[in-house]
Amino acid sequence: MKRGLETIKREHGRKKLSDGKTIGGKNRLSGRNIIRLQMTFASTIRKCKHDLNLLFERSWAIFWHKYSTNNDPHHDYCSIDWCGYLKSVRDGTSYDHTSHAMPRPVLDAIKPVFESLCSRESLARVVNASSQNANESFHSLVWLMSPKHKASSGTTFEIACCLAIIIFNEGYFAIGDVFNAMCGYRGYYTDQAMIHFDNSRLHTESKENNRKKRKKNWSRVASK
Ligand SMILES: [Zn+2]
Repeated sequence: MKRGLETIKREHGRKKLSDGKTIGGKNRLSGRNIIRLQMTFASTIRKCKHDLNLLFERSWAIFWHKYSTNNDPHHDYCSIDWCGYLKSVRDGTSYDHTSHAMPRPVLDAIKPVFESLCSRESLARVVNASSQNANESFHSLVWLMSPKHKASSGTTFEIACCLAIIIFNEGYFAIGDVFNAMCGYRGYYTDQAMIHFDNSRLHTESKENNRKKRKKNWSRVASK
């Protein structure tokens, strides 16, 4: 997601969109908003990776929620857990889209990124890859941080388990919260590094999945 958005931003450069402004800037496709979109997408994958339909709807909800205006709301795919509009409908209170929306010309420009990453086909790969060997990948995470061949203390092992649980359930990005609690801040480069770890984790998972599939097909062909 991050790479796709950055490419679009680069391609647009200083070119003016239909509202006469460039694609970047405050409340538009700023560096901060790119990271936010990436984070939301990554956490959506983690929360919904067991259910392709739900993952499809919630991924598109990121786009349509931002696309909504007071005159033209699109919250069909949103979850009441986080969507302020759905909450306001439930509670009978008023809701103003202005501060939550992103300008439509910006969203129109980045829609191709969503179309490519949030197609059922792309998301199906994520669902398949993540459901494989949940236990195995959890254990390998723990042993990576607390190696078997080195005698590590109970504390190290315990910390490794706790970190593995965070990474396993929430992804590397959530480790930033630990830094935040310990140091009182989380830096830009820490965030970047965690996003990189999360991306490469998804990449490895899907590669591993493809390899297994190929092996399976192979043995099927071979046994014929
Ligand atoms: Zn919504």
